[in-house]
Amino acid sequence: MAINWYPGHMAIARKAAAESMRKIDLVIEVLDARIPHASCNPMFEALRRQGQRPALKLLNKADFADPEETRRWLQHYNAQPDVKAISLCAKRPKDIQRIPGLCQAMVPGRGTRLKPLRMMILGIPNVGKSTLMNGLLGRHVAPVGDEPAITKHQMLHSLGTGMTLMDTPGMLWKAMTQDVSYRLAATHGIGRAAYEDEDVAAYLADYLVRQYPALLTKRFGPLADNCDGHGLLEAIAQVRCLARKAGGLDIARAATTLLNEFRSGALGPISLETVEQMRLRSPYRDDLA
Ligand code: GDP
Repeated sequence: MAINWYPGHMAIARKAAAESMRKIDLVIEVLDARIPHASCNPMFEALRRQGQRPALKLLNKADFADPEETRRWLQHYNAQPDVKAISLCAKRPKDIQRIPGLCQAMVPGRGTRLKPLRMMILGIPNVGKSTLMNGLLGRHVAPVGDEPAITKHQMLHSLGTGMTLMDTPGMLWKAMTQDVSYRLAATHGIGRAAYEDEDVAAYLADYLVRQYPALLTKRFGPLADNCDGHGLLEAIAQVRCLARKAGGLDIARAATTLLNEFRSGALGPISLETVEQMRLRSPYRDDLA
């Protein structure tokens, strides 16, 4: 199944972001800590590097991610020039309070009334950008919801004296590998209308069986030897007594169950990609690894 999702307003937003990149001092990039690489829009990362703008990379939803993998991702990003990376949970005020100081430290010559620190916030849909914006500005400026793509226009906000923050719409890009699109669908970066739950759940199940068998056993009971993704969905249907009216296991409902429980964090802290996997098969381009 091919997931293809690139609404027209995103192409317009890309053009606007390219122009804005020239007028800012720092990019704040919000990533999903479970998929830091897949949730990085390569188009904007390329624009940022071309424009030689430093980036504060925020690995958000760290409460859902595997802490060990998050540690490795932070190490990876913090070794890059002009990049500072931290993990956080945008719902925690204490985590948000750190951000202005970190931004200020990255661009020491700016941050006064005469020379404000001009920042642009980027992030694909559903990474928690609105939650972060509302927390940073201390007021409700952006609608929050667990469905992608709400903000459609750039907005400029002032963040105390000497700092401005340009908000941008959550944007995806066109040429995306299947792996990346499945990871984005699993974490809800791509809207439900673009895929079948069963396809995405099969991808997720395969990954979880290989990487997180202990968490699955804790949640759904012991797995059969050599259990694969489909076997996991069958096991879920059995354990949760999901049967079709016509008879047989209801794999479609098992798929939805697995996706819901992964997305709500009920399965435990899980990351869907590792630094090592990214290095082995860079999903986009080597220069963005
Ligand atoms: P946006 O589309 O990037 O603006 O994302 P939103 O701010 O609307 O957030 C999408 C969903 O993720 C909402 O249900 C938020 O409550 C939730 N969310 C945002 N940040 C976090 C976080 O750090 N941890 C958890 N568990 N949920 C978060």
